[in-house]
Amino acid sequence: MKIQDICNLAEQNNCKVMYNKMLKEYTSFKIGGVCPAIIEVNSSDSLSSLVKACVDNGIKYLVIGKGSNMLCDDKGFGGIVFHIGNDFSEIKLHDSGVIEVEAGCSLIKLCKFALDNSLTGLEFAYGIPGTVGGAIYMNAGAYGGEIKDVLQSAEFLDLTGKIGTYSIDEMNLSYRRSIFQSNNYIITKGFFKLEKGIKADIESKMTDLMNRRKNKQPLEYPNAGSTFKRPEGQFAGKLIQDCGLKGYSFGGAMVSEKHSGFVINYDNATCEDVKQVIEHVQKTVVDKTGYFLDCEVKIIPY
Ligand SMILES: Cc1cc2nc3c(=O)[nH]c(=O)nc-3n(C[C@H](O)[C@H](O)[C@H](O)COP(=O)(O)OP(=O)(O)OC[C@H]3O[C@@H](n4cnc5c(N)ncnc54)[C@H](O)[C@@H]3O)c2cc1C
Repeated sequence: MKIQDICNLAEQNNCKVMYNKMLKEYTSFKIGGVCPAIIEVNSSDSLSSLVKACVDNGIKYLVIGKGSNMLCDDKGFGGIVFHIGNDFSEIKLHDSGVIEVEAGCSLIKLCKFALDNSLTGLEFAYGIPGTVGGAIYMNAGAYGGEIKDVLQSAEFLDLTGKIGTYSIDEMNLSYRRSIFQSNNYIITKGFFKLEKGIKADIESKMTDLMNRRKNKQPLEYPNAGSTFKRPEGQFAGKLIQDCGLKGYSFGGAMVSEKHSGFVINYDNATCEDVKQVIEHVQKTVVDKTGYFLDCEVKIIPY
């Protein structure tokens, strides 16, 4: 089986397939070269047969949600891209109060669903521009909350395409880490347990947090959020600023002048431009302060 055969199988499963697409169209950094095929995932069952076919035939694949935490190669990606997005984004509220949501649902839509049902706990996530799958993978968090606090369990596909479920304790969620980063299983659903709340209070917290983002973050330029993880007891942005790196640029990539924790694509940056800025920041900060800034953004090789 070759890439085209996987695409044919996807089409038989009613998945849309896009050929020779630029990954820059699928990432918030607006960086990334061509990939031979992007498959719009539409169900766990179809994804299961596609993953199995890829593994059995040695065809590499990449899973992408909103592409808001990745830096893709200028050459693109030399395999199949599974896009887990709108075609796999159903949300259900169970009588128990648990929200069951498919991995392609955006966090924004999930937060609005919680609001509509007067459920509190997810307000922190309003404004994180990822999908449910990407947020579980990254244990995304902000303003004192993280996915770990509200997730009850998650459904996944293992490398043979078999469906399984992890309870919250089995996912090893910690600061921007999850078990999925080491076992490469694909998250297909999340089950969230929220508390009953007061709708007006939930809404005002969501609005407040969204406004704080708009004021602090360089949303006018393509970026992938905080480029670096917070070292224990420190803030990456402050360390970078204190080292005089605010506004440092290479090619079309720059340390944001609005928020030093963000590397932005201010003028048609390439992946190499961003990597140069990242490496320069890491070297300067470690030399001057002793803190190594681990990259939060996932760098995706060709
Ligand atoms: C302006 C801006 C602000 C941001 N603010 C925050 C913030 O406050 N807090 C925060 O934590 N993050 C933040 N981020 C980063 C990003 O939005 C989060 O990490 C988000 O959870 C990524 O979701 P995604 O769907 O975009 O994942 P992607 O970028 O598509 O993927 C990220 C990684 O997850 C993997 N992945 C994606 N979906 C799945 C799946 N279903 N199964 C298995 N693996 C999968 C991918 O292969 C990749 O390795 C911000 C980003 C931007 C651009």
